[in-house]
Amino acid sequence: MTHRIVVLGAGYAGANAAGRLAKRLHPADTEITLVNADPEFVERVRMHQLAVGQDLKVRRLSDVFAGTGVQVRVARVAAVDVERGIVHTDGGDIAYDTLVYALGSAASGVPQHALDIAGKQSAQRLRARLDDLGAGAAVLVVGGGLTGIEAVTEIAEARPDLDVSLAVRGDLGSWLSEKAQAHLRQAFDRLGITVHEGVDVARVEKTCAITATGREIPAQVTVWTAGFAVHPIAAATTLEVSETGQIVVDDSMRSVSHPDVYAIGDAALAPGASGSPLRMSCASGVPTAHQAADAIVARLTGGQVPKNKIGYNGQCISLGRNDAVMQWVTPDDRPKPSALTGKAAVRLKEFICKAAAWSVSHPTVMLPSRRRRVGVASAVHETAL
Ligand SMILES: Cc1cc2nc3c(=O)[nH]c(=O)nc-3n(C[C@H](O)[C@H](O)[C@H](O)COP(=O)(O)OP(=O)(O)OC[C@H]3O[C@@H](n4cnc5c(N)ncnc54)[C@H](O)[C@@H]3O)c2cc1C
Repeated sequence: MTHRIVVLGAGYAGANAAGRLAKRLHPADTEITLVNADPEFVERVRMHQLAVGQDLKVRRLSDVFAGTGVQVRVARVAAVDVERGIVHTDGGDIAYDTLVYALGSAASGVPQHALDIAGKQSAQRLRARLDDLGAGAAVLVVGGGLTGIEAVTEIAEARPDLDVSLAVRGDLGSWLSEKAQAHLRQAFDRLGITVHEGVDVARVEKTCAITATGREIPAQVTVWTAGFAVHPIAAATTLEVSETGQIVVDDSMRSVSHPDVYAIGDAALAPGASGSPLRMSCASGVPTAHQAADAIVARLTGGQVPKNKIGYNGQCISLGRNDAVMQWVTPDDRPKPSALTGKAAVRLKEFICKAAAWSVSHPTVMLPSRRRRVGVASAVHETAL
């Protein structure tokens, strides 16, 4: 009997996991289905670029996975019945023996009059709104995290005619090293971005944002980057989830409550090698995908489950197309004193983004083909997986 592996979500995590599984498992006894709402791979790390009018490379999932043995199903997941092993989608039900849950995240808490850049549709809506703005119009980005910084610098660089500002709760880039913070401030000055520090945006109106202290910040367009949350699908199941709704997994990305379910990428509350939880990022999504795929292969074929070696090297932040900061970090994501800035960081950031997209669009190229049979281990699977 074939072992049915269903991967939900074809973002950085899900697409990488599906490709790696296809490369490692023999097609005679495994069936791999990749379910995604969008027919294309969406390069989320470039949504701020899409929003300011840059066109992104189109990668159709059916082309990417042609000939790999992975069956792509374009469908929206509505619910998962983890007790019966069935995924309910708008295109019908799909039964699984092993599930890899990789539905990612979306913007959360976005006020009525604000826009976000967490996904393709919302980035395209922002693009249309920015296109409509005349010179001198005010754009406010709310949120001083990585996405807020990348968004505000991209907008200011692409539209120097606009009055662009950023609202942050604390100080700009306060978690970064002194060197990186200084570079950030220089870049913001050069791009003419006003920074509102120590500000809590309480409300967004059509032409302004209002802070918790009642101050009005003019904004014809407000871009909300202050919150990301996972889809509620996992929390609606009997899977053990965290307060954030992420699926709680062990070192091998396997659900702590349901051994036939793995969760990866933004959708998982996963430990890194140091034991601390990984942050929502592409930088965690790809290694968690590899870890889950390798663990599934090991358990199905009787191999050794690999040790969790997931850790970080750096946080690479674009500051428009002509500047960037690479903040070097410890494996558990604490900043080191050193940072790379300017053109060298731009080249590094571009290399990282391209490499991440390349790993998705060449799913079975990266590894030597070691298509293992699900043999003796299917008995192991029956009992332990
Ligand atoms: C503007 C921006 C810049 C970023 N920059 C960086 C960066 O520089 N570095 C970094 O490490 N991270 C960055 N991130 C974060 C990074 O993009 C995410 O952490 C990463 O995409 C998570 O990967 P994932 O595979 O878990 O989820 P996703 O990439 O979100 O993929 C999830 C997939 O699931 C699909 N899906 C969702 N719901 C359903 C459903 N119900 N049914 C079917 N399919 C569904 C989606 O269509 C999508 O294809 C950035 C994010 C944004 C928004």
